[in-house]
Amino acid sequence: MEKLINEVTERVLGGGKITLQEALKFIDIDCNNIEALNLLFDGANRIRDKFMGKKVDLCTIMNTKSGKCSEDCKFCAQSSHYKTGIDEYGLLDYDKILKRAREMEEAGAHRFSLVTSGKGMKGKEFDKIVEIYRRLSKDTNLKLCASHGVITYEQVLKLKEAGVSMYHHNVETSESYYGNICTTHTYQERIDTIKNLIKADMNICCGGIIGMGESREDRVKMAFEIKGLGVKSIPINVLNPVKGTPMENMEVLEPSEILKTMAVYRYIIPDCYIRYAGGRIALQDKQNIGFKAGVNAALVGDYLTTVGSNIEEDKEMIKKEGLEV
Ligand code: SF4
Repeated sequence: MEKLINEVTERVLGGGKITLQEALKFIDIDCNNIEALNLLFDGANRIRDKFMGKKVDLCTIMNTKSGKCSEDCKFCAQSSHYKTGIDEYGLLDYDKILKRAREMEEAGAHRFSLVTSGKGMKGKEFDKIVEIYRRLSKDTNLKLCASHGVITYEQVLKLKEAGVSMYHHNVETSESYYGNICTTHTYQERIDTIKNLIKADMNICCGGIIGMGESREDRVKMAFEIKGLGVKSIPINVLNPVKGTPMENMEVLEPSEILKTMAVYRYIIPDCYIRYAGGRIALQDKQNIGFKAGVNAALVGDYLTTVGSNIEEDKEMIKKEGLEV
């Protein structure tokens, strides 16, 4: 295994590619094989350094419309199909959003994303969110990201014109596993949205969730599928099983399994942001290791329905690992 890791690392550093078979071998490394894991993490770190440098991208999100979603994504606390007891509210007013945006800007975030529950936005509600972005562009220096579900080409153009520079839309998992996590919309509908973003030349943030019962092979397949979409940022969430959802009893992934996945993603897609996202608390005191194993971006602050990280502590941790915030 050591020989293969060294060979693939040199190849990727030289501009070559890892094959699907090699990535499958890497993700199957036994979590007790510390020597091989360390070599893999070190290789991913060198690849990150060569293709992306030392800069770490920090983003924050704000849940600006919560709950009552018609869809049945089995991991999601906001689906109306499950009783999870989360706070439910309609689209927030601009003043509340601006207050949070300014707090995040002062705390050192680079990107600020508004997220809304639901399959997509239409009509007056969509016009309202466009107006919110237009005002945020004037009132803050934050780069604005958006996450509002499925979206048409015309809607993407409107968001761009209002100052949105990146749109977030996950594939969530591999195409072959997708039917196990959602039945109310298809993997193809997600891809169609991504095609609309590509057509409108919008930067794309697209990743998924690991730990939903999928195989390691599914995780690798998801990375190759995302690679084919040409995205700039890949948020990797770790399932945080929410009580009341069909996934409430799912076992949380082990830290070394999560870190190994992040490293393999770096080998597959050397030149993008591999982003820590929701659920990284599962790494416990090993969160810093990710920044030495290919990770170069993080969602900081609170997540959609769960409390997240402390931004100052994240910045300290990143600097300690020799990276730049
Ligand atoms: S992930 Fe999005 S579309 Fe799916 S249930 Fe949650 S809010 Fe709805």
